[in-house]
Amino acid sequence: MLNKQARQKIESIIAQKEPVVVISHINPDGDAIGSSAALALYLKKKGVPVTVVIPNEVPDFLRWLPGFEMVLTYKKNRDACRKVVSEAATLVFVDFNDPGRIGKLEKDLESSDALRILIDHHENPADFADITISESWRGSAGEMIYLLMREIDGSGFLDKEIATCLYVAIMTDTGNFRYGSSYSEIFNIAGELVTAGIDKDQIFTNVYDSYSVSRMKLMGYCMSEKMVVLPDYHAAYISLTREELKRFDHQVGDTEGFVNIPFTIKGIRVTALFIEKKDHVKISLRSKGNFSVDKMASEYFRGGGHVNAAGGEYDLPLEKTIKKFESILSEFKDELH
Ligand code: 5GP
Ligand code: MN
Repeated sequence: MLNKQARQKIESIIAQKEPVVVISHINPDGDAIGSSAALALYLKKKGVPVTVVIPNEVPDFLRWLPGFEMVLTYKKNRDACRKVVSEAATLVFVDFNDPGRIGKLEKDLESSDALRILIDHHENPADFADITISESWRGSAGEMIYLLMREIDGSGFLDKEIATCLYVAIMTDTGNFRYGSSYSEIFNIAGELVTAGIDKDQIFTNVYDSYSVSRMKLMGYCMSEKMVVLPDYHAAYISLTREELKRFDHQVGDTEGFVNIPFTIKGIRVTALFIEKKDHVKISLRSKGNFSVDKMASEYFRGGGHVNAAGGEYDLPLEKTIKKFESILSEFKDELH
């Protein structure tokens, strides 16, 4: 995975023990936190001073991860984040392909002359790092962190804590090995993580079986009241207003996974979730097969991602955003019929 230049750079970062800041994307998911925490635990083990900086709040279901004490949240702790960034010799960007994905933190990086390394698995990475390690066919950034550590260190690096973080990254970004995981290497890696002593079932429980009653009710409400099926396009979507989120006591991370719900209906190949924010609509898109939601997100919604999982934003009100989505589907009628 690493070319000669990348390998030498990473080896010299470890040898020199100068401070590293690992940065991942806004609205962090299991891969963002799992891969960042795994890398941070590894560097710490090597004696490298390291901090993880995340643009905004980490959902509860990820806060138990080993290494979480190394995570600083920019939105809550701006000064501390600015300080570690200004002192860093290296910034490692993990699990995002565009500097716009770190929100306001992007501006604070401008004055830093640290070496920038990008480790990512999204399509079409922007050119914003000195070293770009991009493998878009991989199911998660966590898998890339595993391979990086193995290439530098053989198998001696893996302990239960690092393996737990990596398993969370791989498990969540593949929807528990449902998508982005149809290759044997990923199962070999998962096998290595089990050998390292992870408690696979407890990890599943911590991540997926830890929501509130009101989140479950919100999910039921989405299914019974808010899902719209468009059989002509083999598509379905769910939308939620700010008022509805408030009514169900919405907490960060509560709508995670909702975009996948309509896939359990026979024949559905494209899904969308629209979440109303204060001044824009956050859009999640998913597809099955060749239909590229990455293309849809990057062409129409200022976003991007992967062929089958992408996201973006739209600045018009919710109803208009949904209309836009429906009109885009009609443009792709032939592909979707
Ligand atoms: P989700 O729908 O779970 O938020 O994100 C699905 C995928 O699309 C993830 O890989 C995520 O990084 C990417 N993604 C989500 N929102 C955006 C966005 O606004 N811009 C870009 N470039 N990618 C996004
Ligand atoms: Mn990812």
